[in-house]
Amino acid sequence: MAELSTAADQYEAEVAVVGGGPAGLVCAIALKAAGVDTLLIAPPAEPDHRTTALLAGSVTALQTLGVWESCRPHAAPLCAIRIIDDTARLVRAPEVLFSAAQIGLEAFGFNIENRHLLAALETRVAALAIPRISAAALAVTVDDRAVTIVHAGGAVRTQLAIGADGARSLCRAAAGIGTTRRSYPQAALTLNLAHARPHNDTSTEFHTEHGPFTLVPLPGRRSSLVCVLRPEAAQALAAQSDAALSQEVERRAHSLLGAMQVEPGRGFFPLAVETAEAMARGRIALIGEAAHVVPPIGAQGLNLGLRDAAAIAEIAAEARRDNRDPGAPDVMARYAAERRVDVRSRTVAIDLLNRSLLTDFIPAQGFRGLSLYLVDRIGPLRRALMREGVAPTAMQQPRLMRGERL
Ligand SMILES: Cc1cc2nc3c(=O)[nH]c(=O)nc-3n(C[C@H](O)[C@H](O)[C@H](O)COP(=O)(O)OP(=O)(O)OC[C@H]3O[C@@H](n4cnc5c(N)ncnc54)[C@H](O)[C@@H]3O)c2cc1C
Repeated sequence: MAELSTAADQYEAEVAVVGGGPAGLVCAIALKAAGVDTLLIAPPAEPDHRTTALLAGSVTALQTLGVWESCRPHAAPLCAIRIIDDTARLVRAPEVLFSAAQIGLEAFGFNIENRHLLAALETRVAALAIPRISAAALAVTVDDRAVTIVHAGGAVRTQLAIGADGARSLCRAAAGIGTTRRSYPQAALTLNLAHARPHNDTSTEFHTEHGPFTLVPLPGRRSSLVCVLRPEAAQALAAQSDAALSQEVERRAHSLLGAMQVEPGRGFFPLAVETAEAMARGRIALIGEAAHVVPPIGAQGLNLGLRDAAAIAEIAAEARRDNRDPGAPDVMARYAAERRVDVRSRTVAIDLLNRSLLTDFIPAQGFRGLSLYLVDRIGPLRRALMREGVAPTAMQQPRLMRGERL
């Protein structure tokens, strides 16, 4: 095991987290709370009108890090998830209702607007006095002893860099890590809206030929919408006036929540699945969308990203406590190994589910319909699927997700 470098090596911090999205902020907070000398290199976040469904383990991690109490007033519980086959196809799946109570949970998780989540994380970063360079990393280079990160105001050297810099990650490129990518003929239109009827803490997912149309509860009579369509159709919808769009969304929701009023702020996201060929290499570890991008199906993307953040923080803090180099090859190898199965299995499952929705191949539609039929009818199968959806069951979750401090 490599000893912690001393003497000739001058580091501005032991660990630098590059990127101030939710994955990067959670990672910086976890590291600092564990006593690791941490530097955040993050320009202020861009406006983000999306919401995130945080599953139970992510909520526990935020509680453990002292962030959740600022999130809770802005978050709505997800007590049930309804899936409705809204295709006009020959083989249609039955409607399925997943209820958190069936697996002994009050809620699968909570839905929160990203702006509130980011604000709560920023407050915690400030409270922990995490040193921050509020500028983008311009260049990243790695050698045997350090990572050097150049920004507009100078350069810093650290033993470990955590790339939380999103889908177009500079850190990933600096580590020489390629990706495999598949673009879908789909884009997501996102917006938040008010509605006349209560959502009863139930998320409703209509599966259409072009992708899911999902309404996720927000506090009060409000919900967020993720509407996946062909890119040109999503763009046309996004260009409509508020009044026309409100009516169109209500129509697509079969008036389930009554009259709707869309709020300002629409997002447009072309969909793709992209996976880094490695989670870490040469003193650079990747987390969040720098490591994996998945389509917004089943609320997995950021939940996976937060498990990355918790895992690397746990491993680096342990190395630091043992007076070892947090960027040493054995530390990087352990992180990559711990995250491989979770990332791979979720990415494959989401890709398959999305492609089964898109396909016109009747046996595939039949298989999807049969699967949902079996899930609906067989209690143990339904409960196993729900447990797996909330958290990986084949491996132990990182300690923060289990409510343990690092
Ligand atoms: C429509 C939609 C709905 C979604 N819903 C859910 C959901 O319900 N549940 C869920 O779990 N996931 C969901 N996701 C996925 C989730 O939004 C992403 O996983 C998450 O935003 C990724 O966070 P991140 O911190 O990894 O990356 P980002 O949020 O992309 O943050 C990256 C940050 O790095 C910064 N950065 C970039 N380059 C540099 C640089 N050179 N130097 C310094 N900083 C840099 C950027 O400014 C940015 O702040 C959804 C995604 C979409 C598209």
